[in-house]
Formats: sequence, structure tokens, C-alpha cells
Amino acid sequence: MALQRPASLTDDFLQGLVARVPSTSGGSWKLTEVYTGDLLVELPQSTPADIERAYAEARAAQREWAAWPLKERLAVFKRAHALFIENAQTTTDLIQAESGKNRRMAIEETCDPVMVMSHYLKRAPHLLKPVKRGGPIPMLSTSTEIRQPKGVVAIIAPWNFPFATGISDSISALMAGNAIVLKPDNKTALSPLYGISMLEQAGLPKGLFQVVCGEGPDVGPTLIDHANYVMFTGSTSTGRVIGERAGRNLIGCCLELGGKNPMIVLEDADLDEVVQGAIFGAFGNTGQICMHIERMYLPESRYDEFRDRFVAATEALTIGAAYDFGPDMGSLVSPDHMERVRAHVDDAVAKGATVLTGGKARPDLGPAFFEPTILEGVTKDMLAGVTETFGPVVALHRYRTVDEAVALANDTDYGLNASVWGGDVATACQVGMRIESGNVNINDILATAFASKGTPSGGVKQSGVGARHGDQGMLKYTDVQNLAVLKKQVMGAKPGQDYDTYVAGMLGGLKMMRKTRIR
Ligand code: NAD
Repeated sequence: MALQRPASLTDDFLQGLVARVPSTSGGSWKLTEVYTGDLLVELPQSTPADIERAYAEARAAQREWAAWPLKERLAVFKRAHALFIENAQTTTDLIQAESGKNRRMAIEETCDPVMVMSHYLKRAPHLLKPVKRGGPIPMLSTSTEIRQPKGVVAIIAPWNFPFATGISDSISALMAGNAIVLKPDNKTALSPLYGISMLEQAGLPKGLFQVVCGEGPDVGPTLIDHANYVMFTGSTSTGRVIGERAGRNLIGCCLELGGKNPMIVLEDADLDEVVQGAIFGAFGNTGQICMHIERMYLPESRYDEFRDRFVAATEALTIGAAYDFGPDMGSLVSPDHMERVRAHVDDAVAKGATVLTGGKARPDLGPAFFEPTILEGVTKDMLAGVTETFGPVVALHRYRTVDEAVALANDTDYGLNASVWGGDVATACQVGMRIESGNVNINDILATAFASKGTPSGGVKQSGVGARHGDQGMLKYTDVQNLAVLKKQVMGAKPGQDYDTYVAGMLGGLKMMRKTRIR
């Protein structure tokens, strides 16, 4: 039976969404439904002049927005929070159509901006409040730390969580008084466009949140050259290009990049939970989660039992194209990406790895489906042994000692996420703290760390610079202004004062300051 597209995705609705993307050249990109390869909508492509105009509009809107009282800015997000929940099913339809992921993952993605709004609605008043500190001269001077918005923030988002990365990362920036110019991936521009329309429905001023579309290398330079800050999520290789350009322009950037994330199972782990976790870790979002697991390390004593149970559970997974909650796993994002995943598996097999299950494309299901795949015998001379595959492919490894497991987990240029499973949580935490990784989840794969919106989350090593969430997830979008007040001009020697006397007084004053509570 032919796949029925959700009723919400009418041509008028889709045309309405893309109408906001500026394109004076008239060029467009064919945005397709991943499950079928059918055209969904022609996505306008922005020229450098379009991008410059988008910045000019954003900058004008930002000046007014920054002058709004914080309470009124936050009220927009209180309304948006309700709207995002009310319209979660439509957002899910869009995410599925443009990314090919299964519905369970798509609806979970819709929760992310809502959680981020909820966190910063509570935290923003504290973070953005001016902080009065003592000045150098007690009683006569003050210094106040003021958080000024940076101006216009460029957000460059990937296709794997287009709604979450496109919208969630803008929320704290907007609350802090910035404007946004977002560049989503061409493949997945629809759900962030819908998110922006909901924000405007909630009262976000028109013009404040701009979207430009195009291939990264075409639009990237103009986009970065006009920004006051860049928030980038994507691959490590693109992150390097973005970071170099931001550095040359002397603007800040946050780079959230790729991973080759390890999972370590300790002797005393509960295998029922481990197998369930491993299924999500390897195959959730069809293996296209930056924090997902591509390397699993098992103790010799439990390896065979885990392998057999994990393979059986994997073979029981259902894969398919459906806009309902049926399939356990959906499609990869595109035939091109499927070829990359297939190349990693073929390369591993050619160099001696064994496929325990899966390993093949499934053109019978759609143009970009690939089976959940478990490999054994993967080594560092294989693509899948060192670089991110970003698909439903995982390698199993044995270890003899915990020290060896930690060394193997750290034997990578990446450091985004790690997962450690053990019955004794304190021991598992000790192991976790030895892993060079920005996020470490104990007895979970990734959700506990990522959903903890109060704690910064980012990568180390080649997995990134900076973090999202937590206080720094908002403060990074601000400049600190040190507003210093001197009530009476008392610094320096008085007219006619002998300089030795002045210096003696100054040095005595320094001694006294050391003893007071003034910092
Ligand atoms: P990508 O780097 O190819 O593209 C990401 C975005 O950058 C896209 O919008 C793309 O059009 C744009 N882009 C590409 N070249 C550009 C350039 N020269 N200038 C400006 N923009 C440019 O990554 P991808 O394939 O879309 O996404 C998958 C990658 O993202 C994986 O490596 C994954 O691990 C990573 N990722 C990381 C996180 C995280 O939080 N650390 C989250 C999601 C995805």
C-alpha cells in the first residue's frame, strides 16, 4: 500500500513555511520526503545579498527587542511553550517527512525546545540581572556586571535534529535580547521554519528571527562575516572551517561537533538494562545522534552472553516507513548518507571485520534504509574503527581489565559522550570520570545528560568548543559590560600633595583592603 502522507502537510502549508526564506535569485532546492524520494516543496536559496538584507532586518528588530523589559520578552516564551506542545503532532509530521526518522524519535525531538524554554524561563531573570560588585575604593565606588546581548547570532544547524538544533539553541539567545539568523540544512528546513512561525504566533516580533537557506560553503562566509556570534552544530570538519572564520573576525563561537562514542559495560551490570540501552544507543534515530554509541566494550566474562542477546534483540527490531508509532527504526536521511554508511561497513568487512547481523541497504523499504548492523573485529585501520559512521552500525569489543577498557574508550580524537553501565554506581562513576568526554552517562546512553538542561553539555577534544545548556548556554550569547561608578574623584595625588606621602597612603590602603571583605 502506498505511504499516506499526513493530512497536515498540505501544499499550501509547506509553501507558506518556505515563503519566509529570502531568494532574489529565484533559485531553489528540491526538498523531498525521505521515505519516498517524492518532492515536498521547492526551497528558495538565498544569495549573499539576501543574507545581508536578512542581517539588516534582524539588526533593526534586535535594537527594539533588547529594549523590551525582560519580563515581556520572557512572556513570549511562556506562550510559545504552550503552543509548541499543542502543535507537537504537526511538528512531528514535518520532522518525519524531511528526515525520515521514525515517529517515536520525531515526537521526542519536539520536546527539546519546550524543555529548554522551561529551564531558561526560570533561570534567565537570575542570569541576566545586573550584579553589583565592590569598586576599588570602599563606599565611594561600585562596579556592576551587566549582561548585554551580543547582537545578531548566526545559528548553523544540521539535519539530524533539525527542530531541536534550529530552535532550542536560539531560545536563550533571544531571551537575552539577541536576534537570530538561522541557516538550517536544506534537507530539513521545514520543522525549524514551523518553529519560528509558532514563536511569532506567541508574540516574537517579526524580523527578529531570520532564516536563510543554501549549501553551506555558498552561504557560510556571508553568514559568519555579518554575525556577532556563531552557534554551530555539525561535523568536526565543517566546525573547523566555521571556527577559523569566526576567529579571523574576532567573534565568539560555540562548536558542537561529532563523536565516536564508547559504551563500557562493567562486570556487575544488569544485562537486561544494558541490552535495552544498547539498542537505543546504537540504533536510536537510525544511528544519527551525535551522542549515540558506535563502540561497545564488554568484559570477557560477559561478552558472549551480551553479544547473543544484543544480536537477537536487534533482529527483532522492525524497520520501515510509517507516520505512526509502529516501526522501531526509520530511514537514514538521504541516499547519499546511506552510501557513506554502506561504505564504512564494506570497508570494515574487506579488512576482516565480521557482520553479526545486518550490513545491507534495504531499497525494498525506501531509498535510504539500512539494516541495524553489529560488527565484530573492527580495528583502527578501518573507517568504522576511527571516524564517525553516523548510522545504525556498532562494533563490539572485549576487554580484560577496566584499565584496558578506559584506555580503549579514550583511544579516539573525539570526546562527546560516553556511557558506563554497572551495578555499583559509585564504581561506575569512578570509571566514567576517567573517560575524556564532555558528557558521561551512567546506566544510560545519552538522554540523562542531554535532558539535564541546567548542566552545560558540550564536547572535548575534536568534538567541540563551548557548550549548550546550563548558565553558559545563555551567558555565551552576552557580552559583559563592567559599569563602574566613582562617586567622588579621590584617586591620584591631591593637588600639591607630596608624592611620597601619596604613595605611602596608597600602599597602606592596599594592606587595609586585603583585610576587608572587599574583593
Ligand atoms: P555538516 O557539518 O555537514 O553540516 C552542518 C551544517 O553546516 C549544515 O547546515 C550545513 O549546510 C552547514 N555547512 C556545511 N559547510 C558549511 C560551511 N562551509 N559554512 C557554513 N555552513 C556550512 O554536518 P551534518 O552532516 O549536517 O550533521 C551531522 C554531523 O553533526 C555529525 O558529525 C554529528 O555528530 C554532528 N552533530 C553534533 C551535535 C552535537 O551537539 N555535538 C548534534 C547534532 C549533530
